[in-house]
Amino acid sequence: MTTLNGKTALVTGSTSGIGLGIAQVLAQAGANLVLNGFGDADAAVAAIETLGVQAIHHPADMRSPQEIEAMFAMAHVRFGAVDVLVNNAGIQHVSPIESFDPRKWDDIIAINLSSGFHTTRHALHGMRARNWGRIINIASVHGLVGSAGKSAYVAAKHGLVGLTKVTALETAQTGVTCNAICPGFVLTPLVQKQINDLAEREGLSEDDARARLLGEKQPSGRFVTPEELGNFALMLCSPLAAEVRGATWVADGGWTAQ
Ligand code: NAD
Repeated sequence: MTTLNGKTALVTGSTSGIGLGIAQVLAQAGANLVLNGFGDADAAVAAIETLGVQAIHHPADMRSPQEIEAMFAMAHVRFGAVDVLVNNAGIQHVSPIESFDPRKWDDIIAINLSSGFHTTRHALHGMRARNWGRIINIASVHGLVGSAGKSAYVAAKHGLVGLTKVTALETAQTGVTCNAICPGFVLTPLVQKQINDLAEREGLSEDDARARLLGEKQPSGRFVTPEELGNFALMLCSPLAAEVRGATWVADGGWTAQ
């Protein structure tokens, strides 16, 4: 079993959904946690501390390079290092390109892509010095294939897959690895909003909208879970994954096998 005792993990966007699920699995393995995100910070810290490790929350807005730098400064003061970085924060907006709000485009590129560049540049120095580190980018199937209406999200996630490969190449001869996890649909607030919008637009019940969303894309007909993704992340932290570099690991119920 992989142990992260004495190590520190920083997970962006970890007050809910996939980020909180990954943080919980890393905490179960012994890592102290730096949490981030706009949800209920106290509840997220409590959910981690109940697992017997230490947790702090920093409210950095992933659109702000200065706030990201301040989050890393706080992590170093409190824990002395960031050994595992999970770039998870992300938002979605669905609209055809002609009517896509340009401000939403900028926000999605900043949060889902550029924040990963800023966190990585702050994390790498210490990881290189200790010759150990894990950078895990939560991309998406939309880092590999497109869907109509999701221009900014698909562009950002393809960009994050590209950043993953370059980070992996620049660290290839060190004990630092960088990989991307590409989930299909996971039932989180981000996807619940798409279900609600679909139900309203098409006059469907919530159950029918959920089934329609899955049915269009995900052959398994069920959602991937944050816990499954957390265990995937933990596997990437294990010695067995020491030479897994620049990979894109799908967990998508068969979405991209079609
Ligand atoms: P979520 O809405 O539950 O969580 C997103 C997290 O990011 C929250 O903690 C939120 O507060 C935080 N966040 C949002 N804007 C932020 C900002 N400006 N600065 C800092 N934090 C911010 O969504 P989720 O579904 O858990 O998504 C997590 C990641 O997984 C995202 O990158 C998303 O693209 C990716 N993903 C989700 C799915 C899915 O089906 N849910 C599938 C593939 C990939």
